[in-house]
This record gives sequence, structure tokens and C-alpha cells, in this order.
Amino acid sequence: MGRIGSRLAWPRAFFVHTAIVAFLGTLAIVVPFVVDIAENRCPVPLSPGVWIMLVLVSADGAYTALTRRGLYIPGAMPSVAVTFGLLLVHGWQIAALWQCIPVLVSGLIRHESWWRIGYTMGHYTLAFLAADLVLSLFGIDPGPESTRALTVGDLPAAALAGLTLAGVAQGSGWLIRASWRGMNVFALVRAEVRARAVSHGALIGLSPLIAVVCAAQPWLLPLFVVPLHTLYRSTMVRFDREQESRHDALTGLPNRRLLLERGEEALVRAEGGGRAALLLLDLHRFHEVNDTLGHVAGDRLLQQVGARLETLVRPGDTVARLGGDEFAVLLPGLDMESDRPAAQEAVVALARRIVDRLGEPFDLDELTLDVEASIGVAIFPDHASDVLGLLQYADVAMYLAKRSRSGVELYDDSRDVNTRDKLLLLGDLRRALDNHEVELHYQPKIALADGRVDGCEALVRWRHPTRGQVSPEEFVLLAEQTGLMPRLTRYVVDVALDQVARWHQEGIDVPIAVNISARDIHVPSFADSVAAGLREHDVSAAALQLEITERVLLEEPQRAAESLDALRRLGVRLSLDDFGTGYSSLVHLRHIPVSELKIDRSFVARLMLNEGDAAIVSSIVQLAHSLGLRVVAEGVEDEATYQRLRELGCDSAQGWLMSKALPGDEATAWLLRNGVGSHATPLGPETAALHRWADVG
Ligand code: C2E
Ligand code: MG
Ligand code: MG
Repeated sequence: MGRIGSRLAWPRAFFVHTAIVAFLGTLAIVVPFVVDIAENRCPVPLSPGVWIMLVLVSADGAYTALTRRGLYIPGAMPSVAVTFGLLLVHGWQIAALWQCIPVLVSGLIRHESWWRIGYTMGHYTLAFLAADLVLSLFGIDPGPESTRALTVGDLPAAALAGLTLAGVAQGSGWLIRASWRGMNVFALVRAEVRARAVSHGALIGLSPLIAVVCAAQPWLLPLFVVPLHTLYRSTMVRFDREQESRHDALTGLPNRRLLLERGEEALVRAEGGGRAALLLLDLHRFHEVNDTLGHVAGDRLLQQVGARLETLVRPGDTVARLGGDEFAVLLPGLDMESDRPAAQEAVVALARRIVDRLGEPFDLDELTLDVEASIGVAIFPDHASDVLGLLQYADVAMYLAKRSRSGVELYDDSRDVNTRDKLLLLGDLRRALDNHEVELHYQPKIALADGRVDGCEALVRWRHPTRGQVSPEEFVLLAEQTGLMPRLTRYVVDVALDQVARWHQEGIDVPIAVNISARDIHVPSFADSVAAGLREHDVSAAALQLEITERVLLEEPQRAAESLDALRRLGVRLSLDDFGTGYSSLVHLRHIPVSELKIDRSFVARLMLNEGDAAIVSSIVQLAHSLGLRVVAEGVEDEATYQRLRELGCDSAQGWLMSKALPGDEATAWLLRNGVGSHATPLGPETAALHRWADVG
């Protein structure tokens, strides 16, 4: 099923290893029992402690399986402390047998496969055998009939045996994992030992006490349940925390952080002459699922997509969710022999199969959903020499795949640098949106009649980590050209509505204006998603205004008109931005349901310099008023222009004279200082003229 054929042959090694461990383990445990029985010896010690221990470990198997259906660490089973204690008293055979009980119980409850249960049992058996060997090196030889009590002098030997037990029980699993992931074994062991030393040490450390109690006062053994349980819980809490920081909560898949870590490991290994590939995958129109069917359905779909992806790759490959509807697949250890074109072809073929398989319908309760995906591929060392580079280039390729609707695109460094640069910026913007690094600033609009604040415009701001502040004009255009616009707009509308809701709570009631692009209007569900945003933030439609430009009407005017009409019916007001530039045609005004015109700042700036511009502004105002529209002047930078606009009958002004666009908290302070809010005194027209915006920072 859709896997690359010529990758390293570790899975076979893995199965061979598993089979050998299970076989040897079974042999080791069965043979001595058979011999005992054949020679008429009782293989099981008859002391009451042994039977109490059996009850304890069985309960442990059931408890650990029932309380954790998901991820768990087999080595952290509290029963190991008990069975190791048993080993110190009665030898490895009974200890290993008793340890198989909780493994079996928990395996059955968890519906684990038989080979897995056999493997875990075999592992423990071999580990107990090794620990017993260590003890015998020190002349300690516990057996079924032994009655020798543990002494202080035995402790160093017991500690060494305990270490051996933990090492063998976990060590081969670590070796396998290291070879799966192509990472340095020592690095993995170091990391694992650091993570598990405390919990395993504490478990093993309790064992000598358990051994002493078992021999002397077996009825006290149940007293160990509470400390063992506490230890187990704290280990699990630590384990969960570790997991959470590296996994996506919704799908349980590795997150970006873990993907980067695994990517580093894969590249270290590939440096010797191998290849590694990174696939970046994005679902098409996922947001429509979210908007129309709700978040619960969207979440379910993402979970199913993640699960399906996992069935398409080999163990050792990493499927990660990077956020939103974006997934990544890391393929370490590609075949080193094949040449560059063959390796690339194989990866692209796999990517195509993934796209095809994701194209098969998903079942969401009664619904069947079709999902389309695009994949971008980048390969080490062909395209980039580090993981972040791979991620960026896969991102570029993914966007090309999405735009060209080709499904899969391999990164191609021969495409022109300009496009690459733009696409890199775009990738950064998308991540910035995911990480909420894009901000909104707010610029007030002032009613010219009385100096009151009658609105605020939300303007997007993005500080790029290396390029610094990027102008909205630049990245908004980029977003429009590449299909990111709906996502940017959703983000902006969401943040703006959140701000309005917060202002409302503080007693500040100003409507907010959000700029939207022609692209948004052409998305059929746009009005619905705005309505959903208003509901979610509990904001009335009257508090939201959308600024559009005439470009909206240039492409597909019919569809735009429907969308705009739906918005108007919702009660959201529309404002025509940048009026007077470009395609300006007053004819348009009759076709779109706007309630406000914003005169472009190029006219406003020339108002005092050029009588012709003053005449244009004056006639725009008159015309707009005759159509029942309000008029706002943008880019008002000086007092003279402000007064002139007032004389011309303009309704509102916006510009640096009053305030630049300010970050949320500064805008809040500005609004309160300038008479907006239940506790502030509104400025009248006269005081407004005197004190107006003196304290603008
Ligand atoms: P716009 O909607 O016409 O916004 C007005 C622009 O004029 C803003 O530039 C604002 O900072 C600037 N401005 C305001 N007062 C003055 C002034 O007195 N003098 C001068 N010289 N400029 C002033 P900004 O923030 O750089 O935004 C540029 C354009 O980018 C906006 O023009 C709008 O078309 C677009 N844009 C900004 N934010 C968004 C957004 O969230 N979504 C969309 N789709 N477009 C946005
Ligand atoms: Mg605007
Ligand atoms: Mg404008």
C-alpha cells in the first residue's frame, strides 16, 4: 500500500528481533518449569508472599490498562518493583512468570496483538534472567525454596541487578527505535535515561524493601500499593507533559517541534550519503467544512486525515500536524543507492499516492466528505541542508501545487528567485497567522460636526522576524495573488471582533471597520462566515463595517453583488474605500449597497494645494449626500485640511492629525482620553477644536 519500495530494510530486522525475543523468552520460562515438574520438584514457591504478590501484579495489569487507553510506558508498570522484589527472594523464574501476568492482563484489555504481548513478555523474561545472572556473580542465588533474607551487604549487588533489569527491558526497544529513526543510539539512550532515571530508580529502589517484607511479614505487602501508585501517577504526569509539548492535542500526532527534532536526526543520519524528504500537505477548502458543518466536524475530519496518513507511511516515517489543516510527512533514510532523479521520482510517486488516497471519501457520521489536498516536496540534500530550509522549500512547492492544482509539486530551485522570495514571505505570513504574530492597529475616525469619535479602522500590521515591518500593501497583495486572502481576512475579522467585544465590556462602543478584498467577496460562504464571527464574539452586526474597493465589481459582478447583498441583509454596513482612484465610476454606486464613501488620501492631501481637487472633493460630497451616503476623508494630516473638509460638508475624517493607527491597548487609552466610553466626558464641538488630540503619541 503506497510505500516506497527501496527504503532501508529495517522492518524485517524489527520483526526478526521481535520473534527472537518472544521465542527466547518463552523458551527461557517454559523449559525450567518443565524440568522442575519432570524431576518432581514444585516450580512455584509456596510462601504466602508469593501469592499476595500475584494478586498485586494482576491488579496492576488491569489498573494500568484501564486507566490509560492511550499512550503508556510499559517499563513504568509498578508491578516491576514487586516482581523484582520477588526475584531477590525466590529467583528469576517465578519473578518472570509473575511479570507475564500483568503484561497479559493489560495486553488483553488493550486489545494488543499477540505478537506484541509475546514480545513484551519475552523482553521481561530475558531482563529478569540477566538480573539474576548479575546476582549470581555476587554469589547471591535465590531460588524457589530459598529462605535467605536480604542483608545490607547485598544492596550493591541488588542495585546492579536492578540496573541490568531496566537496561535489558528497555534497551533493545531503544536500539530498535534508534535504527527506525536513523538516530544516534547513544544520544537516544542518554535522553531516555535522563527522562526515566528518577521513576525507574524509585521503582527499583523499593524492591529490596518489598523483598524483605515478602520474606518476613508478607501480609504487610499490600501497604506498598499506595507508594507504588503515587510513583506511577507522578511518572505518568511527567510523561504526559513531555508528550503534550511534542504532540498535537487534537490528532495525537507529533507537532512541529517533534517534527523538527526528528528532521534533525534524519539529516544527521543522511549526511553519510543518504537522502531524506519532507512532504508538506495542505487540505483544500477545509475552512468550508469548519464554517458549514462546525468545528466538531472539522476536528473529526482532521483526526481522520491524520489517521489515514499514518496508514500510508512506514513506521519510522513521521506524520506531523503543523497546525490548522497543514500536515507534514518526514521520510528519513531514503535509498542511498539510487541517483537523484530516481529518488525524487520515488518520493513524488509516494506523494501522489497520498493525494489519491486522501481523495477517497471520509465518513463523518452520516456525512461523506471529499477532501482534496496539495503536497509540496523538498529533499535533503538536493534542495536544502537543514530542516528549516526543507520546511520552507516544501512550503513554496506546496503553494505552487495548490495554485496550479497539480496536486504534487517538487521544489524546483530553477524557478525565478523573485517568485521564490515572494513565496517564502508568504509561507512566513501563513505561519505568523497560525502563531498569532500578526497584529491589528486601530485608527479612529472623527465626526467633523462635533469632534466625536464615530468609528475605528482596523489595519493589519506584521513584523517579520528578519525583514522587520512589512507594509500591508505588500503582503495583502501577495495574499490576494496566492489564495491566502480568505485566511488573512478571517484572522483580521476575528481579531477585530474580539477587540470590539472587549471594548464593549469596558463601556467603549465604537463601530469597527475592517478592510476586505475582492477575493473575499467572491468566496460564496463569506457572508456566512462573517455571521458566524459575529455570533461567536456576541457582537451586533451594526458594530461592524466592511471596507471594500471598486475592484470588487470588476470580476464576476453578479457573484459579488449577491455576496454584498447577503452582508447588507445581515446588517453589516459597507464602505467604499479609496474612492476616486483607479476604476472610479459613480455608476457603480448604484449597484452596490454601500452606506459610506472614503475619499482617497491622494485627493485629501492636495485639497489645500489645488482648487481642482477641492472641487472634486466638494462634488463627491454633494453627490454622495444626494445618494444618502456618508463621506469620510482619509489621510487628514493637518488642521487646515480638517477645517476645509468641515466647510465642504464632509462627515468624517481619519488621519495622522488625530491619530495614527495604534495597537489595541494604546487605542483603548486614546479612545478613553478622547471622550469615548461610559466614564469619559464627550468633547463638544468647541472643546474638540481646542483640545483635539493634543495628547496623540
Ligand atoms: P486603506 O484601507 O486605504 O487604509 C488607509 C491607509 O492610510 C493605512 O495604511 C493608514 O495607516 C494610512 N493612513 C492613515 N492616516 C494617514 C495619514 O494621515 N497620512 C498618510 N500618509 N497615511 C495615513 P496602511 O495601514 O499601510 O494600509 C495600507 C492599505 O493596506 C490599506 O489602505 C488597505 O487597503 C490595506 N490593508 C490594511 N489592513 C488591511 C487588512 O486587514 N485587510 C485588507 N484586506 N487590507 C488591508
Ligand atoms: Mg481602508
Ligand atoms: Mg483607503
